[in-house]
Formats: sequence, structure tokens, C-alpha cells
Amino acid sequence: MLLKHILIFLFLLFSDHFYAQFFFNENYSENNIYNKNVSSSDTDNIYNASNFKNNQIRYNIPVKFWIIINDSTNHKVGPAFLKELIQYLNYYYSINNTGIRFSLRPDYQYINNANIVNLRYYTQAPIQAMKHKSKACINVIIANTLIKKKFLSSRKKNFAGTYNPFSKTVIITRNISTSTLSHEIGHYLGLKHPHRGWKYKRFQEPVSRTKKMPFSNKKMCEKKGDGLCDTPAEPNLTKYTDNKCNYTGWNVTDKFGEVYKPNTHNIMSYTNNRECRNKFTKQQTELMLNTLSKNKYADYWRIDLQKNKAYLPDAFEPDNHRETATEIFFNTPQTHSFNKVYTAKKNTEISDHVDWLFFDLKTTKPQQINLKFSGIKYSFPKIRISVFREKKIILLKEISEESIIKEIKISKALAGKYYVKISQVVENETENFYTIMIGK
Ligand SMILES: [Zn+2]
Repeated sequence: MLLKHILIFLFLLFSDHFYAQFFFNENYSENNIYNKNVSSSDTDNIYNASNFKNNQIRYNIPVKFWIIINDSTNHKVGPAFLKELIQYLNYYYSINNTGIRFSLRPDYQYINNANIVNLRYYTQAPIQAMKHKSKACINVIIANTLIKKKFLSSRKKNFAGTYNPFSKTVIITRNISTSTLSHEIGHYLGLKHPHRGWKYKRFQEPVSRTKKMPFSNKKMCEKKGDGLCDTPAEPNLTKYTDNKCNYTGWNVTDKFGEVYKPNTHNIMSYTNNRECRNKFTKQQTELMLNTLSKNKYADYWRIDLQKNKAYLPDAFEPDNHRETATEIFFNTPQTHSFNKVYTAKKNTEISDHVDWLFFDLKTTKPQQINLKFSGIKYSFPKIRISVFREKKIILLKEISEESIIKEIKISKALAGKYYVKISQVVENETENFYTIMIGK
């Protein structure tokens, strides 16, 4: 209880400006994932980006979502929405070659409480952040709205997201830009805003990259702003960028009279249009990896260690629900695995042992479809396969290492959308991989 009160006190203490300059917020942004028109090539990029085999991935970090709802029968934030969040996260971290990948923890939870659906920034947010925390992952709370209202003031301000440095929790709302979660997790990984301190002459980062600190050999760009020299000094870009990501503060200068030349694409900036943000610099990436290496769970997130093999999700995850099924194309094999999630508690590992796939059959007359299964290195997990046409189940079969035939035939298949649910029957340490191919 005492801690709770101290936290509330701390949050009330900080004024809006102080908080915005030195802590980690994200202003409300009109652009959200659903409103954005994603072209098919965009979607392709997102899918490719989340395929970690294509990149030099060093870490896989599980993300656990806590979704605040007010009526358990009427909530829009389901697995498909969470999958989209994870895909955008992986897209931004992958195109910048950060070496970091994220996965959806299957044990995401709903918090049914009408009083906090519209979360109060100063009072309720820190309490919820302390309350809902799992170990060995990044915790992300999703609220309907995040409202900042100062004590005894009637002014309300909506925020899209924030990072609570005390509990290391990210809080986001349902209507966010595609880059917001990447920004907040950037804070988790040690990044600060490039415009930090710009309003106060004492703290302001100069445009010059060579100016030294008084009585010191350190460059100012290493100490001020975000402490990185490859992110230019900048003012808060919300007011100084247009919708097309152009900088409009041409006459704004630092305290030495130099005009700013900001990077209007940095994920950690406050560009007016949040969709402008898609870049992490080299030093930002180095700082994130450095922060990660000091995280007490980093050892469980490294993908190069043999002991973590069972914890690595395949490239098609998350696909544990019909709504998040991965499309499989004819004659194109996909290798999936059943993985576990490390929870830092004894005997409470979470098994992720379901995969959903779908394919579209376009045909004018009934035809035969073959689902072929194979294992890696002569081992094969015991799996149960259910095939649905639209919502109706048409086939149910179990196959294992002992099965002579690892092929399923659907004879006289009609045109339509088919779903395939594959689940692991017996958990097995060594036989977790299977390859599926669909042929006509
Ligand atoms: Zn921020």
C-alpha cells in the first residue's frame, strides 16, 4: 500500500512539461492500425519481416498483453489484433536490423473492470502497471483510452501510450499508430526521446556534434538529449513537422543560434504524423542491445543458445486461433514447431502446441487435396489434425512417428476456404518440428 501511495505522489508531483521532457510518453495520434491502408506489398513486407530466419536475430522477447475490458462478451481486442501489433513490432525492429524479434505470449489476459477501461494516467496507470506483471517478458497493458488530467484541473489530454520506468511496463491504447508500440518498447530497451530537454537551455542538446561539455572531454551530444550522437538534436517535432514528414521549424534554433536538422523518421521522435516513424539509428540499436544484455532474463531470450531451443517460436507464430491462421499455398512447404514459453517460475512453463493454417481452394469441379506431413531428422511429433471447410469440421486424424502414412487426403473437395488445426497430442522435448505441404 505504501508503495502505491508513493507512486501516486510521484506521478502527481511531476508537471506535464517536466514529465513530457524527462519521462516517456506518447501523445495521442489519430492514425491507427485499422485506419491505415496497408497495401498488399506492405503486408508482404510485414510477413517477411517477421520471418526471423531471414535476419540476424539475436534475441526473441515474449510480449505479454493485459487487455482492460468492461464487458467480456463485447471486446474487440482479440488474437487477430494482438497478432497485428506483434507483426508491426517485428516489422520495425527487423527493417532496422536490430537483431531483436518479439513473440506473443499465449497467456495474454483480460482485466474486466469498467472503472479503468479509460485509464487515468497519473493515478490508475501506475497502479495497474504494478499489479499486472509477469516475469521474463515485456508486459503491455492495453486500455481504451489513456487520460491525463492534472489534480484540480479540468483539462484532459489523451495519450496513445506511455512507458512506466518504475515497473518497466508499457501502456498503450487501442487506437495507436503502427509505430507506437515500437516506440514504447524502445524506452523499455533504454532509448530516450531525441528532443529530451530541448525546452530548457540548461539541458538542451546543441545541433553541433563536436561541441564539448564544459571542463570535460565528453561531447555534448553524448550527454544531452538522448545521449546519442547519430540522432540529431531536435525540438519536439509534433509542432514542427507536416503530415508528409517534412520538417517545418526552419527558423527554430538551439541556444547557440544553429538551426535544427532533425531526422523526421526516428521511431523515438514525436513527429506530428506518427506513421513517419520507421527508423532506429545504429547507436540506438547498439544501446538497445546493450540494455538487453544486462536484462536478467536476456539469457532465456537469446536464440543462439542450445538450451533455449524449446523456447523459440516458429516464423509463423502467433497462429493459435482460427483468426490468426497463417495462409499456406499449394506446393509450398511450411515448417512449424511446438514451443514453450519460459516464465521464470518452476513447473509453470506455458506450452504453445497449436497451429492454425488456412488455404483457399479455387476450383470449378470437386477435386482431391493432399496434406503431406514430414519430420526433421527422422523424428516426428504425435499430432492431431482437424480440417474445416469454412466453419464445419470435415476431417479429424492423428498421426505420429509410428504412422506409416503421413498423408491426409480430402477427396472431392469443393471450392472454398479451408482451415487446418494442428495440435500436439503428447508433449515431447525432442520431436517438435513438422513440415506440412498441401498439394492437389
Ligand atoms: Zn516516448
